[in-house]
Amino acid sequence: MGFRDLKAFNLALLAKQGWRIQQNPNTLVHRMFKAKYFADTTFKEAQLGRSPSYLWRSLMAAKDIVVSGARWVVGNGENVKIWEDRWIPTPDSFMVRLVWNLNCPNKLKQFLWRSCRNILPTKHQLKSRGVDIDVGCDFCGICEFVEHVLWGCKFAAEVWGESRLKLPLIPYPTEEFLEVVWEIRDKKPDIDWELFAATVWGLWNQRNTVRYGGQRKTAHRLTRDMEEYLREFRHENSPPCKPSRPFAPTWTPPKQGWYKANMDGAVSKERDCCGIGVVIRNAEGQIMGAMSKRLELPLKALETEAMAIQEGIQLAWDLGLRDVVFESDSLTVISALSSPTPPPWSIQKVIEESKLSLGCFNTWSAVHVRQSRNMAAHLMAKNAITVLDSVVWVEDIPPFIAMQVSKDVSSLNADLG
Ligand SMILES: [Zn+2]
Repeated sequence: MGFRDLKAFNLALLAKQGWRIQQNPNTLVHRMFKAKYFADTTFKEAQLGRSPSYLWRSLMAAKDIVVSGARWVVGNGENVKIWEDRWIPTPDSFMVRLVWNLNCPNKLKQFLWRSCRNILPTKHQLKSRGVDIDVGCDFCGICEFVEHVLWGCKFAAEVWGESRLKLPLIPYPTEEFLEVVWEIRDKKPDIDWELFAATVWGLWNQRNTVRYGGQRKTAHRLTRDMEEYLREFRHENSPPCKPSRPFAPTWTPPKQGWYKANMDGAVSKERDCCGIGVVIRNAEGQIMGAMSKRLELPLKALETEAMAIQEGIQLAWDLGLRDVVFESDSLTVISALSSPTPPPWSIQKVIEESKLSLGCFNTWSAVHVRQSRNMAAHLMAKNAITVLDSVVWVEDIPPFIAMQVSKDVSSLNADLG
């Protein structure tokens, strides 16, 4: 992606959020922004206003896209429901646990994840991105989208028929592969999901082989090969006594009714800039807001961490959250916030301002955690260094931390169970 694409990409993400704010007048964010910035008018007509918050400024920057590009944004919005119902990592989210608890090669887990989220470069996908190709499946000629390759195609049906998984029939046509997985989970939850993941991967692999001129395996051969592949993996990775523990404990949620803001900073010497990451979640681990902000300043690590805290406090305030735990992996910054001892001079001003802002919250606390408990914010900070713009998400998951956020909540669930 070039510079313009990146910028458009970020604006598009913001536009999607702007669209959601426009479409969902009942959300907290909508009501909050409405009261403050467009009390007598609509989001479409809203102006920047006096002393706009960072968040509002970002949304206004993207507003033109919201208004002019509403069509494709709506198109994306259609997936939101499935995403929210089944993927937003609530502690009992079956899908999240399913994928991340599999004992199989990572590439299979990631592939299954991408299949369920409908992000494979199928011909239909390429066409919708403007690539001029015939969308017909190489095997049967029907339009090739994710669900077709992995389930609906005649070849896929043969493969599932040969498989010793003996999957249940799904009596109605499906459009999303996630629907298929969801049905199987309903009807036959105890299947060998690792073999399922391997077979899904095998189907895509065959699709690619044929697409680039290779010979397709028979359905029988493919199923036996995938069984063999998995058998070898299990043989090499069988820990005889180590209990399988999918993830080290990571993020912990705040008390019910509270919010937790995780913050981190990252410094890039080569690029002479630094990045700030903020992720704010509720007690269920759902994202209230997240920020990836790039600062074109040659700051040191400590200063960047302090700036990250300040931004985190500001974002929590902008989102209308008033009972917040602020977490960072910088012990110096956290101590500076919670003790009267003056901090190192280079962060004195930032800390003073932060303390003033904190005084406006109902309740707050500042907690130091190890980096392993602060990974989502860490990834947001790293991302800030690589993107050219700052991006804010509201009640939505930034794609590059989706996996981390899911892992955090899954491990939380494992801790409880
Ligand atoms: Zn086909």
